[in-house]
Amino acid sequence: MSLLNASGLGLINLGAPADHSLRSADELRELAAQAGRDLEGGSAEEIAKWATDTFGARFCVTSSMADAVVAHIFSRVSPGVDVVFLDTGLHFPETLKVRDTVARTMNVNVRSIRPRMTVGQQDGEYGPRLFARSPDECCFMRKVEPLERALSDYDAWATGLRRDESPTRANTPVVAFDAKKGKVKVNPIAAWTEADVNRYISRWNVPVNELFKKGYGSIGCWPCTRRTKAGEDPRAGRWAMFEKTECGLHV
Ligand code: SF4
Repeated sequence: MSLLNASGLGLINLGAPADHSLRSADELRELAAQAGRDLEGGSAEEIAKWATDTFGARFCVTSSMADAVVAHIFSRVSPGVDVVFLDTGLHFPETLKVRDTVARTMNVNVRSIRPRMTVGQQDGEYGPRLFARSPDECCFMRKVEPLERALSDYDAWATGLRRDESPTRANTPVVAFDAKKGKVKVNPIAAWTEADVNRYISRWNVPVNELFKKGYGSIGCWPCTRRTKAGEDPRAGRWAMFEKTECGLHV
């Protein structure tokens, strides 16, 4: 966190990270290892139920609001669950529309977490368009640190990672211990294909980012996302000018 030197201006003031975990890191590691074995091959709902039964209020879902599939699964299994959205200040309006639709129509508690600095403050401190010069630094301040701050309230969190999204995600387990964060990471749709996701969206009429219909294969902040071409990996449009393929949230 030493990279940051401005005062907090988050939408929700979480204060300084303070971890109130009731379980030790060793306990969480054991739980995750066992569940990773037991739940492999289980349905997304079974994985979600295990997570909310096990962690209760010490559990949240994180969502990029590309779609609301994982948030929807949890809203059915555990109504009122916290859904954390990292509001970088650089999202497409279409992404914020999904976030607002989820908050309005689904039985979940959406928490928008903002970076410590506004985009303007970051521009003043580091110069404009940091994302074009040093995307890792920008992602750290606008995504990684806010997620770590938000997760200090939880022992475990869920993501929408899928194995078929990219080679870097091909071995994603359904449940694992994240040693760096000291928390359990739950990936209930890790084994799903894109077709599975589309089937779920159709069946439940789940909110989806309109940009998918406009040629985007994967959606992040607007400065670092471009449309994908036919045959390209869905994530090829993310940080296309750099070698970078992940924002740092999942490493
Ligand atoms: Fe900054 Fe781009 Fe990362 Fe968003 S995706 S935080 S704009 S570098």
